[in-house]
Amino acid sequence: MLKIALTGGIGCGKTIVADLFRRKGIEIIDADQIARLLVEPGEAGLKDVVQRFGTNMLDSRGHLNRVLLRNVVFNSHQDRKDLEAILHPLVYRRIESEIGRVKSPYCIVCIPLLLETGRAERFDRILVIDCPVELQYERVRVRDHLDDDQIARILASQASREEKLRVADDVIFNDASLTSLDNQVEKLHNFYLKFSKSTGR
Ligand code: ATP
Repeated sequence: MLKIALTGGIGCGKTIVADLFRRKGIEIIDADQIARLLVEPGEAGLKDVVQRFGTNMLDSRGHLNRVLLRNVVFNSHQDRKDLEAILHPLVYRRIESEIGRVKSPYCIVCIPLLLETGRAERFDRILVIDCPVELQYERVRVRDHLDDDQIARILASQASREEKLRVADDVIFNDASLTSLDNQVEKLHNFYLKFSKSTGR
């Protein structure tokens, strides 16, 4: 199975691009969605998070208080490392098992923090969704109602645009219309189909 990792900074357009591939019948595995499922009540991830960070991380219904946890790890490097050490192995294990069930000719695994989690070599190709930083600010301002300081902090916690482009096998440049995006997706889709046939993956 040909495994394409799709990554890119906040607001670059990963979700929108993944949707375009999905419309072509390609199965999408979403690391963020998996990470959320793994801390649902009854899941192993939640048990480990509570063991490390305490029961005050749970609300009255036993669900993870994500806002509280996010604040804790945003303000402490060690806490963040500890949370990652709990969640990342679980997320990647679940990704592997989902890849095993894929029926489409290739699959796309959407991993915003691919470089930051150091797992890029597990994939056959890395597709980076790229756009100018100013556009990232503009989109996130509108979508998430964050101010520029908040956006800057998020950007500082992510690998830089240059680092992502350096590891990219393929790049979709998302600074224009949705039609331009669709054209780029169409070209890459055809390339991946051929690549998958020629390599037998
Ligand atoms: P995040 O990492 O925050 O989840 P993302 O990389 O998945 O972001 P999207 O959610 O796909 O990014 O896009 C960010 C916002 O910008 C969305 O509101 C989306 O609709 C808008 N957007 C992205 N690309 C375009 C485009 N080419 N034209 C118009 N709007 C766009």
